[in-house]
Amino acid sequence: HTPVTIITVIGVIAIVALVTVAVLQNRPVLQKYKYGIVLDAGSSHTALYIYEWPAEKDNNTGRAEQKYVCKVKGKGISSYANTPVKAGESLNECMQEAKMQVPTKRHHETPLYLGATAGMRLLNMENSSASDKVFQAVEKALQRFPFSYQGARILSGQEEGAFGWVTVNYLDDRLKQGLETTGALDLGGASTQISFVSKNYDISESPSNSVTFRLYGNDYNLYTHSFLCYGKDQVLRMALAHQTKSGPGTILDPCFHPGYLELKDYSLLYDSPCVSDRKPQNATGTFNHSGAGNFKQCQEVVKKVFNFTSCKYSRCSFNGVFQPPLQGPFGAFSAYYYVMDFLKLTDATMPLKDVKEKLANYCATPWNEIVKQHPEVPIKYLAEYCFSGTYIITLLTDGYNFTSESYSNINFIKKIKNSDAGWTLGYMLNLTNMIPAEAPDSPPLPHA
Ligand code: AMP
Repeated sequence: HTPVTIITVIGVIAIVALVTVAVLQNRPVLQKYKYGIVLDAGSSHTALYIYEWPAEKDNNTGRAEQKYVCKVKGKGISSYANTPVKAGESLNECMQEAKMQVPTKRHHETPLYLGATAGMRLLNMENSSASDKVFQAVEKALQRFPFSYQGARILSGQEEGAFGWVTVNYLDDRLKQGLETTGALDLGGASTQISFVSKNYDISESPSNSVTFRLYGNDYNLYTHSFLCYGKDQVLRMALAHQTKSGPGTILDPCFHPGYLELKDYSLLYDSPCVSDRKPQNATGTFNHSGAGNFKQCQEVVKKVFNFTSCKYSRCSFNGVFQPPLQGPFGAFSAYYYVMDFLKLTDATMPLKDVKEKLANYCATPWNEIVKQHPEVPIKYLAEYCFSGTYIITLLTDGYNFTSESYSNINFIKKIKNSDAGWTLGYMLNLTNMIPAEAPDSPPLPHA
């Protein structure tokens, strides 16, 4: 065996291995990929997503999909209002990871976006200079990386709702095929979005709730609304604020388990524009937050955060917001999924009355039993699932008017084909012009 033969054999083995891997992964041999990075700066945390798609212009086979996700340690960027530099620093670890995940020679052409949602909308309302400083720090941190930085901004509620809808329908291949679309229900910590196509509704009735798209040759009139302060963390504040109205002391909260007891701070509870105007004069120091574990009573408390009295349109959801008739299937993701998955209530065939019954049993379970049953779940999340589940059911039924029948049209989902449901993919597809307005030309007819 001469060295030349050995090298040749090694070379042949390497090529065979490469081709085998490519074939097994169902990828064209030596396919080039492009990448895009989106940071979702949510109210409670930030997540970095890397998307990947084939570089060839072949629109019919190439779909962008999630290649990698990194959860930023610590809280959302809006929590760094008093220490903005730390908001920037918090992103470094995930950004370093992104550098490793994207091939070095693609770094410079890889667009990088940061979109902030309701946490920053609230901070901006409360203290716009603090919000500006957070953005400056974040911008500085992101620009240190070799990607093509495209900016950091607050998304409007309409954008958040509409891009979530685009993501879901793009991943399901519904847009390209012009199929009936799926509505999108998104629940965050500080806001919640509902977006769906309702045939024959008059978009002029409430223009601020409509977004029109032309995608792959089809026109869509999308209804969308984002309710600021109706994310699950802010609704919990509103529900607590309501119960502390009568003044200092102990709250016996039906949305928390029997035996639950926490000492809480009034100043922390009221530290948000969603509740700050409700702060009673005598609310200083701490209060005892204890649980009573009663689903029905919890629903009554939660209902009080909605206003059903005035509607100047033909129909409304709540707080005087227009909503056309619900139509078609819905995908419910982010906190809808986390909560319903924990409660084992994601089965679409489970009737609404069974869901309520299970939730009622869960809420009535003593706190020490719940803690024993779920040693792996962080206590903060664990304490709130009864409240969050009750809020979800109340929002869907009393808020959006889902009935026992239409409730079965809701699918609680986390991922579609390996990509997380959420606004980030739709946002990137839009900004990189990856969804054409017109359908790609059909191939010319062959010569006879
Ligand atoms: P955002 O940060 O706005 O995207 O909000 C996401 C919401 O989901 C926040 O209320 C988080 O606290 C909550 N969340 C995230 N992970 C979980 C989980 N595993 N269980 C329950 N809630 C969660």
